[in-house]
Amino acid sequence: MKIDKKDAVNLLEEISLLLKLKGENPFKIRAYENGARILSTMDVDFEEFVLSGEIAKTKGFGKALVEKLTEFVNTGELQYLVNLQSEFPDSLFEIMKLRGVGPKKIKVFYHDLNIMSVEELEHACLDGQVAALPGMGVKTAELILDSIKKSRQYESFFLYSAARETADEIVDYLKQLPCIQKIEIAGSLRRYKEVTKDIDLMIASDRPEDVMAHFVKFEHIDSISAKGKTKSSIILNNGMSADLRIVSSEIFPFALHHFTGSKDHNVAMRSRAISMGYKISECGLFKVDDGHADELIPCQDEAEFFNKLELCYIPPVLRENMGEVEHAGECKKFDLVEKSDYKGVLHCHSNYSDGRNNLEELVNHSIKIGHRYLGITDHSKSSFQASGLSVERLLNQIDALDKLKAKYNNQLTLYSGVECDILKDGSLDYNDQILERLDFVIISVHSSFTLDKASMTSRIVKAIEHPCSRILAHITGRLLLKRDGYEVDFNKLIDAAVQNNVAIELNCHPQRMDMDWRLWHNAIDRGVICSLNPDAHHLNHFNFIDQGIKCCQKGWLTADHILNCWESGRIDDFFNQ
Ligand SMILES: [Zn+2]
Ligand SMILES: [Zn+2]
Repeated sequence: MKIDKKDAVNLLEEISLLLKLKGENPFKIRAYENGARILSTMDVDFEEFVLSGEIAKTKGFGKALVEKLTEFVNTGELQYLVNLQSEFPDSLFEIMKLRGVGPKKIKVFYHDLNIMSVEELEHACLDGQVAALPGMGVKTAELILDSIKKSRQYESFFLYSAARETADEIVDYLKQLPCIQKIEIAGSLRRYKEVTKDIDLMIASDRPEDVMAHFVKFEHIDSISAKGKTKSSIILNNGMSADLRIVSSEIFPFALHHFTGSKDHNVAMRSRAISMGYKISECGLFKVDDGHADELIPCQDEAEFFNKLELCYIPPVLRENMGEVEHAGECKKFDLVEKSDYKGVLHCHSNYSDGRNNLEELVNHSIKIGHRYLGITDHSKSSFQASGLSVERLLNQIDALDKLKAKYNNQLTLYSGVECDILKDGSLDYNDQILERLDFVIISVHSSFTLDKASMTSRIVKAIEHPCSRILAHITGRLLLKRDGYEVDFNKLIDAAVQNNVAIELNCHPQRMDMDWRLWHNAIDRGVICSLNPDAHHLNHFNFIDQGIKCCQKGWLTADHILNCWESGRIDDFFNQ
């Protein structure tokens, strides 16, 4: 069996967790953590990387790591980890995944209360044992219970990107059948929701039995939860479930619309239909007042269906009942941003901090994909876990960028920036003299996440008011399905951003999608500028922009609302204001 990069990253992460539990030397632990982090962003054939000896020449892989990973590649196992694991029960690893339950606490639970599973921990929180432990208290027990509850909620959801990849695989597989007339992904995936519960597929075919027989033979199936003539559900090896519905091509547009949702959008559509004397459902469009209530009004596609209801076409991304039906009823065009409007990334990390690529690789990639400009924004000095730049390193980088600016002058506009930490008191991580040397400054919170809402809001407002600030990055710090964001007063932050001419980021790393699309409607009404960025730590991350554009569309953003769609001259004015 071939060992891939992901296996190796998991291996290193597991070792570091276990060493923490044992209370080992932090430097030893950090070596494994760093190795895992570096490896996860590398674009290599892992076996070749190890066997060719390239690994030994790569920063971050010391002798101990090289030896262990070589053994892992050669034997498919690592005796060191097997020995470590045997010291702990398996269920303990589930506790590790809970937010707010770090190695120190796990050690106490494990040693003092003999807790070895999430269920045992839950009981101990409920019956007061956890609260009675030294240094913990009722609040800790409550936080842990909340964390257990959240992890159970998260478990049933998947990130858009992961679900989409699986859905595409199933679609490719189903397309092998010639008797399929139409196939579409429906549900929240079609609407580009950032997380999704399951995959919905719609097919038009006049041979549904053949299609169903083929569907339930998909190779990555774990189990079949339902198999019928027109609807079947499967559970895949990766835990996702997929539902397939088959209808005739006559019914397809109505069924596709219905199963794309959202539920609230469908409610709004139904009441519009009723007000016009129609009835709609997954089975079709019918006129109710002429005695032919059962007679289907045929539609070629969704566009025609909307048209019959005197609506212009509503793209799936917008079907969230945020006013789209009324807007389409006035037959106003939806003037949404498109990918071709996007002109350059303004939040991008290089290998000066925790990015994978050097400056020139990033420049060349931006040119290759047709971007007009690029802003380099590595981490600031307090983000030591992300190799944030000392003042000296930042100044070095500014010099290096000056050379590249001259070299690539005709092909790309380069901006030297920084992703500057907002410190706990709202001040910025470098002094003004340093910040003024940069073309622009992104500000973001990477520490002290537990401040209450009011303090967090005034901390960020203070940073927004700094004259050098230009973009506020990932406004809540959330990591989807992993941790909720810190609480902030969005209206106050949006108003401060508008007053100080600071753009708010829509960070389109698939795990962030922050600020949330639901808030942009209000934000643009207040006059805020959006900056759409992949927060790239690797060339591949530039691909996140595709999903980011869809997310902007969900927030009704036009190209003019988005900094990254402006010409470089207008960006210069914005940075130099
Ligand atoms: Zn950040
Ligand atoms: Zn960043």
